[in-house]
Amino acid sequence: MPRGKCRVCGREAEYWVPWANAWFCRDHYIEYYNRRIRRVWDKYFPDDPGDTLIAVSGGKDSVALLYSVSKILMEKGVRHSVLFIDLGIPGYSDESLEIVGWNAERLGLNVEIARLRDYGFTLRDIYRLVRARRIRRPVCSICGMIKRYLMNRYAYEHGYSLVLTGHNLDDMIGFTLSSLVSGRIEDLVKLRPYVEGYDKLVAKGKPLLFTYGVENKWYVEAIGARIVGATCPFRTGESSVNTELRDAVFSVDEKHPGLAILMARNTVDKLIPRIKPSGQTLIRCSVCGYPSSSDPCGFCRLRERVARLLSSEKK
Ligand code: AMP
Ligand code: ZN
Ligand code: ZN
Repeated sequence: MPRGKCRVCGREAEYWVPWANAWFCRDHYIEYYNRRIRRVWDKYFPDDPGDTLIAVSGGKDSVALLYSVSKILMEKGVRHSVLFIDLGIPGYSDESLEIVGWNAERLGLNVEIARLRDYGFTLRDIYRLVRARRIRRPVCSICGMIKRYLMNRYAYEHGYSLVLTGHNLDDMIGFTLSSLVSGRIEDLVKLRPYVEGYDKLVAKGKPLLFTYGVENKWYVEAIGARIVGATCPFRTGESSVNTELRDAVFSVDEKHPGLAILMARNTVDKLIPRIKPSGQTLIRCSVCGYPSSSDPCGFCRLRERVARLLSSEKK
């Protein structure tokens, strides 16, 4: 397609945005993107969410989140810092932390670090134990559980009331479809852009839920941010049915731009409000004291098992 003119200023454009049916120059793309995130914020988030942590992995999504949301929080006078979770992935964790630190410094923000090592193990141990088939669950699924736990625990212990993550529209569509396929409809309520805190669970927010992965990529490029180049060395292929379903929606979206946004919006605004809560009440983990659906909680059970396996190796 020949390069067009920016819809706003008429100068030579750089970004073709199919779902807006518009070309934008660099500056006006940045403006367009920030406005999109701002609209999500104004519609779903409390005006004063309290002290906020922005969880940044160094990938394109959470780096885009960092810049766009920090701008909003700054304007609103909401105190905020960056959270990095050091999972102890050889090479990768250090490279990621360097990138996260670089971006945070550019914005004048503090980076706080939650270390898995402080709980007696690292993701490297998990990887080894999974490969040796002494733990039977995919590494990425264990890692996801660990991140959710550490994010919440760090935020709670340090007096934050909200944690923001960079989950994007691609994640949103994948999760929606897999919940529909598996019939775990109640899981969809987790997909609200803002989920209130409760007891020792701090509020969670996903301001990029209606934002395509590619939009985030363009944004970080346009603002000259740095992102992590490497992929996680422990990453295995995603579960294929879910990925294929998601890809199917995005291939229809290519022909009908904006379809995925519409689907996500209707899921959040029309479908989720009709879902009855599962009625399952949370109990308290007797080991760590955090709310959980099981006792001990998933994290404490894993921690105990890893400690046992590691000490039996030493013998
Ligand atoms: P993922 O689980 O890798 O899809 O990541 C989802 C979101 O979790 C990212 O957009 C980040 O906001 C956050 N996140 C993932 N890994 C880290 C990390 N190592 N440190 C801080 N935040 C992270
Ligand atoms: Zn322009
Ligand atoms: Zn626990």
